Amino acid sequence: MTSQATSRTAKAAAAERREQAVRAAVEQGLAGPDVPIVALLDTTGIRAGAAALQAAFAAVTDAPVLHAFAVKACPLVPVLRLLLAEGLGAEVASPGELALARAAGIRPAATVLDSPAKTPAELREALALGIAVNADNPQELARLDALICPQGLEGQGGTPIAPSTSPLGIRVNPQLGAGSIDALSTATATSKFGVALLDEGARDWVVRAYAERPWLTRLHTHSGSQGVALSLMARGVRAVYELAEEINAAVGRQQVDTIDIGGGLPVNFGSDEETPTYDAYARLLKEEVPGLFDGRYGLVTEFGRSLLAKHGLVLARVEYAKSSGGRPIAVTHAGVQIAARTVYAPASWPLRIEAYDAKGRPKRGPTVAQDIAGPACFAGDLLAENRPLPLLDQGDYTGVLDTGAYYFAHHYSYNSLARPGIYGFTATADGVEFATVRSPQSLADLVEEAGGAHADALL
Ligand SMILES: *Cc1c(COP(=O)(O)O)cnc(C)c1O
Repeated sequence: MTSQATSRTAKAAAAERREQAVRAAVEQGLAGPDVPIVALLDTTGIRAGAAALQAAFAAVTDAPVLHAFAVKACPLVPVLRLLLAEGLGAEVASPGELALARAAGIRPAATVLDSPAKTPAELREALALGIAVNADNPQELARLDALICPQGLEGQGGTPIAPSTSPLGIRVNPQLGAGSIDALSTATATSKFGVALLDEGARDWVVRAYAERPWLTRLHTHSGSQGVALSLMARGVRAVYELAEEINAAVGRQQVDTIDIGGGLPVNFGSDEETPTYDAYARLLKEEVPGLFDGRYGLVTEFGRSLLAKHGLVLARVEYAKSSGGRPIAVTHAGVQIAARTVYAPASWPLRIEAYDAKGRPKRGPTVAQDIAGPACFAGDLLAENRPLPLLDQGDYTGVLDTGAYYFAHHYSYNSLARPGIYGFTATADGVEFATVRSPQSLADLVEEAGGAHADALL
């Protein structure tokens, strides 16, 4: 089969699983008049994505590769454990994310800590556990120095205390410019992340930092994200590779032995096609940076969005169908609380929406431009404006697609809207099975989070 035919088949299969799952969610009562919003994860799709990632890099290098899932993209313990079962690790950027990774059973050796604002206590814990750390800036490196060589660097008479098993590196920003979404562009000249490599003196500072610290063995960049072209991402990886070569030449040995190329593969939010593929990216990297794949360097990747986005959807009931100023409006239960990005920046983050009838079957019929509104009390709470869809009626459902990363797992507590339940599904010829990933938030939990235990505190 050609790869195009394969992808058509995979795409059709994913759409078919989704339709089965939506129908079953309504039939089995996961969604209904009393549960007007639910989030669903396609377990089969997630597994296939993780397998595709590993196969893509295995095809271009024999060196060890750690694929550390960026927990930020989908901070759910059962998802992390599923990815672990598929052979992935975790990239974490806060004590909370580290706690999730540990709760999922991800080993320290398969965990990378990257936050831009690590406290001394977080650094100490990471070193004690043996978790990889990428220092963001000179001040953070000084904190690592104090933990590792409190008497001064080795060249200055110090010796490392109890050598940590943590692989340590520095994050650099190749300053290649922005993609199409400013808020997500990490490699701009003034980005807040990493050591800005083109700033005066920065490159020399980095080379010296490695020369003075034999324990710095990794180099990290994360220059991709939604809206960034693969060619720009590849240039970022090329820039860190060249820096690693320069450091190794300067110290006369292969001190940098692992390059962490970050994540940031963009996702196609326009159709069921999964593009660009990991395969295309890995092949491009091999073409553009061949030396990275000749066996001298181990690799770490940190993909997030591309592993989860297309494998999640939100199913929301249409509570009311009305019209205003001649515009049909479906008032649903999915809005800003599950799709903050789309509601606040609709031009950058358009989402596909499917129309289903009250039994969860795809709704057919002529399309009518209509607004798909959420439940929150502000006018901008719209997931789509003037979207051509079969006219939605009260009791129908909308499916908000491609929301498996940075959407429903990133609840926004506007109007005290409760977090919806999240269920994984496997669809087979015999039917659809659901597994609870996260229970819906109860009103008691919601009150507790809102200071319910301290009701008298301000009296
Ligand atoms: C957010 C982030 C990632 C994941 O990015 P995606 O676009 O979700 O693939 C990886 N590494 C770092 C350091 C990040 O901040």
